Amino acid sequence: MTSTTTTSPTPAASAPPAAAPHGGQGTLLDFRDVAMQFPNGTVALRGVDLTVDRGEFVTVVGPSGCGKSTLLRIASGLENASEGTAEVDTDRIGYVFQDATLLPWRNVEANVELLAELNGLGAGARRAAAAEAIELVGLAGFEKSLPKELSGGMRMRTSLARSLTLDPELFLFDEPFGALDEITRERLNDELLRLFVEKRFAGLFITHSVSEAVYLSTRVIVMSGRPGAIVGEFDVPFPMPRDPDIRFTPEFAELVGEVSHALREGHR
Ligand code: ADP
Repeated sequence: MTSTTTTSPTPAASAPPAAAPHGGQGTLLDFRDVAMQFPNGTVALRGVDLTVDRGEFVTVVGPSGCGKSTLLRIASGLENASEGTAEVDTDRIGYVFQDATLLPWRNVEANVELLAELNGLGAGARRAAAAEAIELVGLAGFEKSLPKELSGGMRMRTSLARSLTLDPELFLFDEPFGALDEITRERLNDELLRLFVEKRFAGLFITHSVSEAVYLSTRVIVMSGRPGAIVGEFDVPFPMPRDPDIRFTPEFAELVGEVSHALREGHR
């Protein structure tokens, strides 16, 4: 058995979204039979086959502790799978966590510039990248604010902007809106969908909320309890850009019901 996380630079995404078949040329992430056992013996994942193609927004739902964060850590290269192969065909990876992880002494602008700075971008280029990202997440006018002066939603927007400066081809989200109130979460869901349509990154998103998963995604993956295995997969047929009112349609409720059912069955 091998455990590889391969990365290779690729040119900017130019293929039309959702045009490529699963596992084909447009595949950015390809997990085959991935398992993860930590040195202390904990088995977090088993037999995970998962692809994310350009143009896809894939959301993973599963019970707490089933290995969702571990899956993202393997995708980002922070962790190596103990079995199987985990290939990621880009080095432009964005990663947003539940905690905005901002530096408290840096203002919005300086926080957003951080990753570009660590990546060695010159002052002019990173200022331009940060200004564009701040505009994109709707924080123009708050450049000089410190994290303590921002709401939770604004801190998360700052965190999103920081990753956007890298112009990611693959964007990993580890429950980014889990700590926010319902209204702020819904608003950020819409902002994220707008960014997805505009910037054309591929998304891999973790959440506890089945309705958030269905609303955001082109595909929802359901995981069992630990060790996490994929027990359900649902294509989401609603077109992008997504109309916020689809949340109130019977079709949406029906799909949420099906995903919830698979989640319950996988947790038995
Ligand atoms: P989730 O994101 O679904 O809540 P995680 O991926 O964080 O789950 O964790 C899956 C399981 O692996 C949990 O039981 C967790 O305690 C365990 N785990 C995570 N990281 C480590 C580690 N570095 N060493 C040992 N066990 C770990």
